[in-house]
Amino acid sequence: MTNLHRCRRTLSDDPYCPICQEAEESIIHTFRDCARLQQVWRYIISSSLAASFFSNPIKVWLRQNLCSNILFRNSIPWKLVFASILWQFWKCRNDVVFVGDSASVECTLSRGIAWAQYYNDGWLHPMQTVNAPPRTIPWRNPEHGCLCLNVDGAVSLNTGKATIGGLLRDTAGNFIFGFSKYIGFTNSLHAELWALYVGLQLAWDHGVNFLQIQTDCKRVLELLHDTNVDSCPISLVRSIHQFWRRAWYVDLIWVPRSSNQAADSMARIANCSSFDLLFFSDPPAQLHDVLTTDALVLSL
Ligand SMILES: [Zn+2]
Repeated sequence: MTNLHRCRRTLSDDPYCPICQEAEESIIHTFRDCARLQQVWRYIISSSLAASFFSNPIKVWLRQNLCSNILFRNSIPWKLVFASILWQFWKCRNDVVFVGDSASVECTLSRGIAWAQYYNDGWLHPMQTVNAPPRTIPWRNPEHGCLCLNVDGAVSLNTGKATIGGLLRDTAGNFIFGFSKYIGFTNSLHAELWALYVGLQLAWDHGVNFLQIQTDCKRVLELLHDTNVDSCPISLVRSIHQFWRRAWYVDLIWVPRSSNQAADSMARIANCSSFDLLFFSDPPAQLHDVLTTDALVLSL
């Protein structure tokens, strides 16, 4: 309950907002009218909603936004972003009341958008997760003379923080190098693309001539094999494409998640307190088990 409702039930004698202390903590104040939130809403609402956004009564306000067909940043339905941000605002307020501290409003906003993007990706491509084959398929090594780059991105469901990782191996499964990096708040598709981009750069710098890249994200494959890749709205896709048109052989293939576990492990060891790239010339200890399993399967 908000403080106003607690007062009405004689559970409290302070109806004021614990964040701004300037108005009664009603539901509409909690989600819209509190001063800091107003700044954030103004920053992201579309012009078509702005006229009545701060004047509508709560039920109209909720219905209008939850039934809206507007797209946020031309990609995510606004109703998803709106609902997700309300939930994050509520969690943030609870942190202030029960923990005495909370993330900044800006951080709460990014988290709300990251979640909305995540729901949206799940709706658009539900087959990938729902019908994923339960079988475990081991790592597949490339042909002799070709090096293999496995890449992966990981987005934390709790924090919305995204990390990327990857590793280069020869056809016998020997570790050549690995990398890991925190990239901030983003969705899983962008994380997968960043992993690919950074991996490509490192492989090029290493002087690789024949490269097979393995990703477990089908969407990445679709985007990069599209005949109109030069007009793709995602700039990262265009940058990746320019990179691999250089003088080297690059083949991108999709593999199931189970055969990309080494890259997944690399993404998970990133340090989320810094944006620095972690580069490994020797396999990190966390990778020992998965590398041993991959090499063992090759020798069978
Ligand atoms: Zn307030």
